[in-house]
Amino acid sequence: MTAVIEVSCINCDMCVPECPNQAIALGVHHYEVDPELCTECEGFYEAPTCIAVCPIDCIYLDNTDSLL
Ligand code: SF4
Ligand code: SF4
Repeated sequence: MTAVIEVSCINCDMCVPECPNQAIALGVHHYEVDPELCTECEGFYEAPTCIAVCPIDCIYLDNTDSLL
C-alpha cells in the first residue's frame, strides 16, 4: 500500500518533514507521495504519520497495488 494525497491538498507543508522516507514532494499542483518510497511508516510509526498530521484529512491509503 501507499499513501495517496488527494487534489484537495492545500499545500500546507505539514506532512513533508514528518515523512521518515522523504516520500512526499510538491507535484505540479499539490503535494504527492512517491509510491516507491512510501512504506506506510513501517518501522517508524504505528500508523501513517502523514495522515495523522494532515489538517484537512486529504491523505488516504491506497491498497490497489496489493492485488498485483
Ligand atoms: S505513510 Fe509514512 S512513509 Fe508513506 S508518505 Fe506518509 S509519512 Fe511517508
Ligand atoms: S498535510 Fe495534507 S494539506 Fe498539508 S501538504 Fe500534506 S497532504 Fe497537503
